[in-house]
Amino acid sequence: MPTLGNPRNTIEIIQKYGFSFQKKFGQNFLIDPHVLDKIIRAAGVTKEDCVLEIGPGIGTMTQYLAESAGRVAAVEIDANLIPILQETLAEYDNITVIHADILKVDIGEIARAYNGGRPLKVVANLPYYITTPIIMGLLEGNAPVDSITVMVQKEVAERIQAGPGSRDYGALSLAVRYYAEPYLVANVPPNCFIPRPNVGSAVLRLTRRRENAVQTKDRELMFRLIRASFNQRRKTLLNGLNNAADIPFPKETLAAAVKAAGLPDNVRGEDLGLEKFAELADYLAGQESGPPALPE
Ligand code: SAM
Repeated sequence: MPTLGNPRNTIEIIQKYGFSFQKKFGQNFLIDPHVLDKIIRAAGVTKEDCVLEIGPGIGTMTQYLAESAGRVAAVEIDANLIPILQETLAEYDNITVIHADILKVDIGEIARAYNGGRPLKVVANLPYYITTPIIMGLLEGNAPVDSITVMVQKEVAERIQAGPGSRDYGALSLAVRYYAEPYLVANVPPNCFIPRPNVGSAVLRLTRRRENAVQTKDRELMFRLIRASFNQRRKTLLNGLNNAADIPFPKETLAAAVKAAGLPDNVRGEDLGLEKFAELADYLAGQESGPPALPE
């Protein structure tokens, strides 16, 4: 049974090893068993699953995962935590700890080594300084992963979940939605961690879609359009795109694309869903590009 996930045993382990928390690694360890249970349930982990845990810390969630999953591969960057994990996870024979930076790991290799190449479930209390690169790396890199259940900063969860017209809606909301269906599992207050983070947290589950949310002739162009329109979100879509150096179409072509998508001249990017960005990309994919316009 898990022995961590409470303040007493966590502090005992930390003191025994003289472990000092490293801010640069985003170390906030979970000390609330209810939150841990909720994460495991939301991830829907069964003995059929192989879980990839990112950042096991002292092994708190790893213990819970080992009880419910068939196998767990846990990737930890901090060398000081490896001997601690050897002790806290000693009684489990279904865990492999990998000392590495998750941003440099080949997730396909982990799936092949520990799950016969089948998709993994990612479950993690993420280091907040690299939340977006981790999530987008898993989704864009086509890693063999069918769900991602993660603790993130509350504000990031809100941005990912937001829809058109909302203040939090942006390129991240659209990028995640293209690949996955987001679901907010729970908000988690700072007192569930040691040390307490100075922001609220939330558990988010992303279920990978079998097919991307929209079809487009040019995905790369679609994401450039999305980024350009949110980089200048107070401008109209047309001016935002026209000012962007990496959208090399004449203004008349951009205006024709906006019109062909059935949008008014003064529409803003923040009012559009993925479908409209896909329509704009499809229209522009077949058009002649020109020299970049001078900013207005
Ligand atoms: N899972 C533990 C828990 O819930 O108590 C710890 C979570 S803590 C928020 C984040 C963990 O990720 C830390 O153990 C940290 O050392 C690790 N970490 C930070 N950057 C990492 C990286 N690039 N690759 C792998 N692990 C990383």
